[in-house]
Amino acid sequence: MRKKIVAGNWKMNLDFSQAQQLMQQLAEYQNNNTSACEVYIAPPALYLTTAKNTFSKGEVGVFIQEVSEHTSGAYTGEVSVDMLSSIGAQGAIIAHSERRQYHGETDSHANRKVKMCLDKGLTPIYCNGETLEQRKANQHFEVIKNQTEVALFTLTAEEIKKVVIAYEPVWAIGTGETATPEQAQEIHAFIRNLIADKYGKEVAEEVSILYGGSVKPNNAKEIFSKPDVDGGLIGGAALKVEDFSAIIEAFN
Ligand code: PEP
Repeated sequence: MRKKIVAGNWKMNLDFSQAQQLMQQLAEYQNNNTSACEVYIAPPALYLTTAKNTFSKGEVGVFIQEVSEHTSGAYTGEVSVDMLSSIGAQGAIIAHSERRQYHGETDSHANRKVKMCLDKGLTPIYCNGETLEQRKANQHFEVIKNQTEVALFTLTAEEIKKVVIAYEPVWAIGTGETATPEQAQEIHAFIRNLIADKYGKEVAEEVSILYGGSVKPNNAKEIFSKPDVDGGLIGGAALKVEDFSAIIEAFN
């Protein structure tokens, strides 16, 4: 059965002491509650080893916000899958829309990175989603189809089962505007059908598809209740333990 997941993307927020405090609060929450979903965080890369040490029981999976497509060498500022693996990180977010917008990430890059993560036993959280212009022009299905095919469809059936997909409509990220639960379900079902057409229904049923875009404590339950929504990738609301834990509890 596919996993239910709540993953927090901290982006470039929190100084070290604030980050340590939030990690400790989250560890305490996880140790005192039985969550009905897996819980991951992606703090700034600088804090990954602290996160690994704080969540020493594996109560929270530790992810990086982006990973290099190179294995090692003269790539200033980058972090490789080997490095991630060597500190016991669980995986990497790949092709977040902010990486696409500000750093030229493409689905071809994502394709290589997803494969590198899988080869190293790491979990890729592959992000896709349409812009507002694309949605207004009714191109969202075509955009998602193309993104998903380029980034993922060179994988084998066994490999794609291990990928987590995060559908994040760009117009809903950090804007306070959320896709309706019906809009999220429509695209999630569409992505699952694309996978089913290529790999078969059984494989498609194994893939966790998260929704991201202004998920908050007050809307998480309704969004997560949709049959093809397997959890959320959370930005702003992951920065406060009360909000993040309330979203985790949406699965209870
Ligand atoms: C994100 O960054 O992936 C995200 C969904 O952000 P927010 O929840 O703040 O919209």
